[in-house]
Amino acid sequence: MKVTEITFLSTCRVRIVVEIADPEPYTTQGEARIPRRLFKMFPRIAAQRCGNDDGHSFRREAQATEIPHVFEHVILEIQDQVRRGAGAPFAGETQWNWTLDPRGRFYVTVDYENEIVALGAIRLAERVINALDSKDIACLDMPREIARLRDLARLSRRHHHRPQPSSRDYFPSPFPEYKEKTGFSEEKPAGLRERLPDTAVA
Ligand SMILES: [Zn+2]
Repeated sequence: MKVTEITFLSTCRVRIVVEIADPEPYTTQGEARIPRRLFKMFPRIAAQRCGNDDGHSFRREAQATEIPHVFEHVILEIQDQVRRGAGAPFAGETQWNWTLDPRGRFYVTVDYENEIVALGAIRLAERVINALDSKDIACLDMPREIARLRDLARLSRRHHHRPQPSSRDYFPSPFPEYKEKTGFSEEKPAGLRERLPDTAVA
């Protein structure tokens, strides 16, 4: 999985374009080691709220879900660890529409408070996702990575005005047509995974 574009939207949300190249798996289905390693690395992710079609907990959803949806939850968790759980809950969503886009392209949108931390969390989550499927996972020192992002947060707070968190104030989806296509066929050419704690996107 590769992050190909990062766009900071105006209301404390960041949109990430990711591409999964054939023959990498698009989902965790049949890749049981991916959720197993994920929950070992981030025990709290299993309890994250998740707005999936079947109302599953993320622990269960992660057994068979799109890899970028896991990526979304990892970004949220990393950002949350950096701020030690303080503040309004972060939300995110994962969309795709392969009837318009090349197969393997996904759009992941997540809330953020600090742009520098968000960028670091996105890059770290990308490394995590790609390591989950290989032995490289042992090379990732997560406490050290989180500490490094906390240092960045401190430094950036000293030098920049920090945008006020406004995770309830959602930016309208740039892809409204996706919302109409959340019914899945077997191949799921289009879909939406969302994690919206209190407010649904209209
Ligand atoms: Zn979710």
